[in-house]
Parts: sequence; structure tokens; C-alpha cells
Amino acid sequence: MRNRVVLSSLVIALAAATAPATAQQWLNAPPNPKTNQSNFRSLEEWAAPNEYRNAAGKPGPKYWQQRVDYAIKASLDTASHTVTGSERVTYHNNSPDRLDYLWFQLDQNIDDPTVSRTIQDAPALPKQLSPMARRFLAPEPFDGGHKITRVQVVSTRGRVVSKVDVPYVINGTEMKVPLPSPLSGGEHAVVEIDWHFIVPETSRNGRGARERVTDGWLYEMAQWFPRASVYDDVNGWQTDQFYGQGEFYLNFGSYDVELTVPHDHIVQATGILQNPLQVLTATQRQRLARAMTSETPVFILAKDEVMTPGTRPAGSAPLTWRFHADSVRDFAWVSSKTLVWDAAGFRYRPGGRVIEMHSLYPRDAMPLWDSVSTKAIAQTMRTYGRLAFEYPYPKASNIHGPVFGMEYPMIAFCGARPSADGSYTPQLARALISVTIHEVGHNWFPMIVASDERKWTWMDEGLNSFLQYYAEQEWDPNYPSNRGPAKNIVPYMKDTDQVPIMTESDMIHRQFGNNGYGKPAAGLVMLREQVLGPKLFDQAFGEYSKRWAFRHPQPADFFRSMDDGGGELLNWFWRGWFYSTYANDQAVTNVDAQPADSLIGTTARGSNYWRITIENKGGLLMPVQLEITFDDGTSQKVKLGADVWRRNELQYIYGLFSDKTIVKVVADPDEVFADINRDNNVWEKGPAPAS
Ligand SMILES: [Zn+2]
Repeated sequence: MRNRVVLSSLVIALAAATAPATAQQWLNAPPNPKTNQSNFRSLEEWAAPNEYRNAAGKPGPKYWQQRVDYAIKASLDTASHTVTGSERVTYHNNSPDRLDYLWFQLDQNIDDPTVSRTIQDAPALPKQLSPMARRFLAPEPFDGGHKITRVQVVSTRGRVVSKVDVPYVINGTEMKVPLPSPLSGGEHAVVEIDWHFIVPETSRNGRGARERVTDGWLYEMAQWFPRASVYDDVNGWQTDQFYGQGEFYLNFGSYDVELTVPHDHIVQATGILQNPLQVLTATQRQRLARAMTSETPVFILAKDEVMTPGTRPAGSAPLTWRFHADSVRDFAWVSSKTLVWDAAGFRYRPGGRVIEMHSLYPRDAMPLWDSVSTKAIAQTMRTYGRLAFEYPYPKASNIHGPVFGMEYPMIAFCGARPSADGSYTPQLARALISVTIHEVGHNWFPMIVASDERKWTWMDEGLNSFLQYYAEQEWDPNYPSNRGPAKNIVPYMKDTDQVPIMTESDMIHRQFGNNGYGKPAAGLVMLREQVLGPKLFDQAFGEYSKRWAFRHPQPADFFRSMDDGGGELLNWFWRGWFYSTYANDQAVTNVDAQPADSLIGTTARGSNYWRITIENKGGLLMPVQLEITFDDGTSQKVKLGADVWRRNELQYIYGLFSDKTIVKVVADPDEVFADINRDNNVWEKGPAPAS
């Protein structure tokens, strides 16, 4: 998702102004050379490689994952704002283990007043509250939550049984469904669940919600049906509760979904529409066909056509929209009579397959959305396609509504709305470009490279923010990207109360966006631009992405994959940037010279032998880059790897010969290593002593 600043800014905000305690602690207790405390040593945090996940960071020979197929029928009642659904879940047990029960996620229960699952402190009341925060703090009485009305097992171990009610049990946001007979590896069970829930106006889960825009209600539906939890080789059942922060770890499978909505609604969803003849007009179908041959957006339903006669098929009865999707891990949808719709087709190469791009938004979103959204989807296709892998799905949509930024397979929900008079600032346009790239980019991470989001925010948000940075720079080389440049993460690196990136999502107590998005993105930019170089980095990153596409990688799978593809052990980098809160603070503390010829005779390399002392005062090991300026005004740059710290992590002395006199040395001259204290980065030759 897009980091939710609205609520978290209420709770957090005290930026640290004092010296970093972490750096001080490190200086007080530097690594003990009598035991191997070198930051270059192996990471004991990583589980040993095994037959499921190998030492090279690849899925091992016995890698397995579960598969879950869904057939769902649901209807939307716009009078009571209720979704009523019935699903048939086919759970394929591909594990070697016998399962006695299944777990399902009931995310709507975060809005159930009887379920008290929260990790948020009560925030102090500031002088002004956003409307969303006001509703959060003083909500209208709301009967939210998944109301389960039927759970039956239809078949188990591949055998049809007479439908039996099973004694399911709900624990917060998780539901346990016992199986009448245990499910061995290779067997499947079919479970049917009926449910309904009221769509919240502003959800505490920060995802699906409804909003009354100018022309009427708009519904964005997410976390809307009971979804099977993941059973894997690392967690067993991943039953971490949903608190609103840690996101969604889900199984791949196919979806057949029938959505019955009021006649005047337009629906967009995960998957390909199966019955355009029933739900679209002939004009709309013709426009869609034309749009798919066009790189620039074509209106399928224009602004002045919204809610006009003739834009819906004849009749007035509710219409059922049917969608099908393969190899997806979730399904989301939008439904409203208020939607403008533009579309275009994307091809990676002339004559290649067409990827449908759709943008749907109420008139309130114009004139901004029609000029930006679909183009930003295309930019995402290009950049992510090159750096990770080409988009494998047949379609990508972007929807404007109440949810500011959230991702689902093939469909994203994005905010950024012009003022009521239609005006908008360049900043707002960039907010839409950035959030669109970000949310559509989530198709790669975690929708396809399907990490455990409930635990590891950085594995999707960090990798996605990293690629978002390059997509933004390709959109406009002068794009003022927030996340990616090392400089921008410096204030966070000074924070004395941060936790390591390798902290489970629901334990990140503050600065969630900097922790899960900004710091990993900046670190990966450093790794690409300064450590491995773009060529090797891109190979390794692309290999990781392809190895784990449609699979479930763990953190060590990423680290090992990058070591393996990048051609060096990056223990120092993973440990420092991901497992610690040390900051980079390099200081140039001394520069001295000896006449070289007095020691070794005249050398062709120069008459003076210079030694430059660099001290590591922050604890974080980083490469050393120096800009050395001489008395004749010339300068040279020196780029050294982090290996200079292998023998002594506190101090390194660089030597060079020159005929000239060094007058100035600057460490990290290009500000690419997030050095938190630049005052000590500069050494300058003092004035000559008065004679
Ligand atoms: Zn995100």
C-alpha cells in the first residue's frame, strides 16, 4: 500500500534531534576481536538452507506451496451498503503434511466492535483533525465485520461428502475450519462459506471502503471475502492476526467471480471480464477494441456520458458481471454508477500480446486522472518489465475512490483528487504519478513475487519503492523522488528510536514508511549504483524476481539470491542496513605526508607519500569514496569498497603518492551513502603557520 501518513502522523512525528545513541553505543562497545564479531561474518539469523530453499537463494528441489481456487457469487445492496456472498473454495494440499483443519482470514473483523484487536496507542488530539482521523477517533456506531452464516465441507480428500456443517471457530481476524477427515499431501478439500458485511465508509483496515462522490456512492471492495491463510514450510499456518498494518500473505489460485450490482453500475475487477455482451453496450465494446490498439487512452465512458441513458444495456434489473483470473493471490473490485472510464493497450514489442490498461474514476477526479493515470500504468509496465520481468497478467487497472493507495492483482486503488473547481498543483499531479506507479508496481511485489507481507513489509514495499524510484526517473529525469536517493533517508538514519528493517511489520512502532519503504529503497539504490554496479545488480535482482515469481520467498532467499547473482558475500551490507540501526558516519580525521624520496628514493608515482585517515563513527560499514583536492586546484576521486573495514572496522588509512600538496579531502562527496554527520567529512589544510 501507500504508506498511510494520515493516521500515523498523529501518533509519530517527534524527529530526533540529538546524537544517535546507536552510533554512540557502538563506539563505546566496538566489536570484540576475541570472538568473531566482524560485520563481514555469516548471518546467524538465516535458517540453514534446505531442500525447500537452497543456499543459492532458489526454490529447492522439494519446494512446495499450496493452491487455492475460488468460485464466488456476491451481490451489492446499495441501500444497506451490504455485500452478500457465497464462495466455494477448493483447497489443494501440496505440502508433505497432513492437515486437520484450514484457517481463513476474516479481515473485515478489524471493524467488528466485538473484536478488540489493535496495536495503536490512543493518539493525543492535535488542534486540527483530518476527516478520516476524526472518523477514526470518534466513529459512528458501525456494525462491521464478516458475518459468517454457513461453513460446510463439500468434499474432502477428493471425495464428495454430503454437505456437512462444521464447527468453525473465530479468533479475531482468523477462522478455523475443521475438516471431517484429515487432508494428506496431494489431496484437496472443497469448503463452502456464506457471509455478508457492511462496507465501511472509512475502514479501519485502510483498504476497501465506500464514498459518496459528487454523482453518488462509489464502492472499492477489498479484503471482502474469507480468504484461506497460507500454510508454508516456514510458518506452518501463518495465523498472525490482522491489525491494519501488516498486510496480506495469500495463496495463488484461480478465481471465477460473479458480481451482481445495480443496473446502472460499472464494475472493474481483478481478472478478465467474461460477459461483455451482457454488461457493456455495443458502443463501449467497440471503443474497448479500439483502445486496445491505441497507446494513448481512449474513453470507453466519457465524462459527459456518466449516468446518461444509453450507456447501460436495456432494462433495469441488476446485472451480473463475471470475471476470471488465473494465478492470482487475491481478488478486488470496484462498483459505481459514477465512473468515467479510459483505456489503452500496452505491448512490450510490436506485434506482441496486448496488456489491457484501464483507469476508472468519478468526474471529481478530472481533469487530472484522464491525463495521468493510464500513462503512469504504461510507465510501470516499461520500468518494472525491464528491471524485474515483463508483466505476465493480461490487464492492469487503476481506480480512484476513497482508498489513497492500495494494491491487488491487476487492480489498484489510488487517491490524488483535484480541488472542487478542477484545479490541481504540480505536487498533486506527481502524487498521482507516484502512487499509480507504486500501486500498479505492487503487481510485481508482492502480487507475483508473493512474500509474507504480514511479517516483512520491506520485501514488497521496499523492493517496490526501489523500482518506483527508477520508474519516476524514467518518467522525468528531474522527477523529485521522495524515496530512493540516499540524501532523503538521512533524517531517518539519525533517528535514535528506529528499529531494524528486519522487524516484523506489526512490531514497527513508528516511522513505518521510512522503515519499510524509504530505507530499503535507498539501500538498494546504493547497492545498485555504488556497490555492485547496475549490470550485476540488475542481473541478480532480475534472477531473484524470476526465481520467486508466483512463489513465496523469505528474506534470506532474497539476500542469498543477491549474493549468488552479484558475485560477492554482502553479509556486511545485509547485517548493517537490514539487521541493525547503525548509521553511516565517516570522518576524515587526519591527513599527513612524508617525502617519499627520503624513504624509497625518487618514485615515478610522486614525491610525497600521503596518508588519509578515515574513521567509522557510526557503526555502519559503507564503501569509502573520497574527493581529494590539491594545491594546484585539481582534484581526484577515489572509490574504495567496504572491504577496507575488514581488518579494522573503526579506522582505515588510505595512502597515495603525489607531487602535489593535498589541501582538502571530502568523504562521500556525492552524498550517496546517507552519512548522518557531514561536518566531520571534510578535512582542510590549515593556514601556513606564521613565520
Ligand atoms: Zn505499497
